[in-house]
Formats: sequence, C-alpha cells, structure tokens
Amino acid sequence: MAEVRIAGVRKAFGPVEVIHGVDLTIADRQFAVVVGPSGCGKSTLLRMIAGLEETSAGTIHIGQRDVTLAEPKDRNVAMVFQNYALYPHLSVARNIAFGLELRGTPKAEIAARVARAAEILHLDGLLERKPRQLSGGQRQRVAMGRAIVRDPDVFLFDEPLSNLDAKLRVAMRLEIRKLHEALGGTSVYVTHDQIEAMTMGDLLIVMNEGRVEQIGRPMEVYRRPASRFVASFIGSPP
Ligand code: ADP
Ligand code: MG
Repeated sequence: MAEVRIAGVRKAFGPVEVIHGVDLTIADRQFAVVVGPSGCGKSTLLRMIAGLEETSAGTIHIGQRDVTLAEPKDRNVAMVFQNYALYPHLSVARNIAFGLELRGTPKAEIAARVARAAEILHLDGLLERKPRQLSGGQRQRVAMGRAIVRDPDVFLFDEPLSNLDAKLRVAMRLEIRKLHEALGGTSVYVTHDQIEAMTMGDLLIVMNEGRVEQIGRPMEVYRRPASRFVASFIGSPP
C-alpha cells in the first residue's frame, strides 16, 4: 500500500513562504497529475515528497509511514526529471544501475533488474551506448529505467516530457501511463501542460501560487472548475 498523504505542508526558502499549507491524499496505485503555472510550487511539492527538500511545517505519509523526516533513500520513492540527469560518461546499463550500485546491491541482482527494466522500456539493444548516442526519447527511457530498477512504491515525475518534440511527447504520455499500470505503484506527475493534465491522470490537482486550488477527476474539474483561475487554466468552457 503506497497512499501518499500530505497534511498542512508548508515550505519557506529563507523568509519567503512558497507553499502555503497543502493537504491532499493520493490513493494507492492512483496516477495523480499536479498542474499549474510556472513558479506555483509544483517542483517544490514533489521534492518534499521525495525528501530532496525539507518541509517547513506539516507531515508527509507514504502508506502507513510518516516519512516527513526520512532520508530520500528511505522513502521508497523514485523521481524522473525533465533534464534526464544522465551521466554522460557512463553506459546506458550503468546509468540505469547507478543507484543500485550505490546501495551495494549484489551484481547478479543488478544485472537482472537492469535487464528487466531494459525490456520493459525497449532499451535492450542500447545498453552499451553512451547517452550522447541516444535520441531524446531514448534518454528519457533511460531516466525512467533508473527509477524502475529501484522498484519504488511511488514514482515522481517532474515535467519529464517538456524537452521532447510534440510527436514524441504524445507517444511517451501513453508509455508512461502504461508503465504506471504495469508497475503497480502510485504516481505523482507534475506538468504545466493542460493536455497532459486532462488526459493522463485519475486525479487532477490544480495549483496556483503555492496553494491547491482544486482536486478532482480531470473531467469533473473541467466541467465544474472551483475558481476563475482553474477555469481559465484548464480551458473550461464559460
Ligand atoms: P514550479 O515547479 O511550479 O515552476 P517551483 O516549485 O520550482 O515552481 O518554485 C516555486 C517558488 O519557489 C518559485 O517562486 C521559486 O522561485 C521558489 N524556489 C524554488 N526553489 C527555490 C530555492 N531553492 N530557493 C529559493 N526559492 C526557491
Ligand atoms: Mg518545476
């Protein structure tokens, strides 16, 4: 069970508060999309779930566990970034294996997990290449491979497709959604793209200026926007 429960979470950088008290629950195996304009706090919220930023107030639970103060490696989450963050000098296989190597996972198990991730992501023939020898879509798959091999309870995506061209983006949306079903985890997917917001998730979370404006099924949010901001951002009919 990997429900993600966020209660009263705030975040300040120095004197400036940028997340003003967020409450939300994402059910086990749900695919939640967090959408909102640039600077509204999406990445900060995701990074707090990952443990890459401390919360200034509030609590975060993953399943039954209070992880508010837990190290990133103890949260069983994996994050996929927009800029891939691949190591240019390492092969695809070692890029995928990197986190497992750090954790001291036995070599045979690493090899088996990398092979499985490569199969799921159609990277089988590319394992010895370097990132520069890959297309943008392939690089994004390597970044996802790195998340998959860790077999996390929660997948966190921070605008993973925003560097891809439009055609590839359409294909990758479907792939990510399929991957989510296949892996059986809970996903939190951040985007500022209204199409992704409407089409990818079971749950849509609309943020603005450090607050959650509305949470609901995408079509419900579209049909019954809770504010003028939500209506204009989602493009609801007047
Ligand atoms: P989004 O991902 O929605 O574009 P962010 O979470 O990156 O928004 O940023 C939310 C706000 O927090 C912005 O005003 C941003 O400038 C600020 N911010 C983010 N990270 C830091 C940081 N490390 N130090 C200071 N301010 C930050
Ligand atoms: Mg961001």
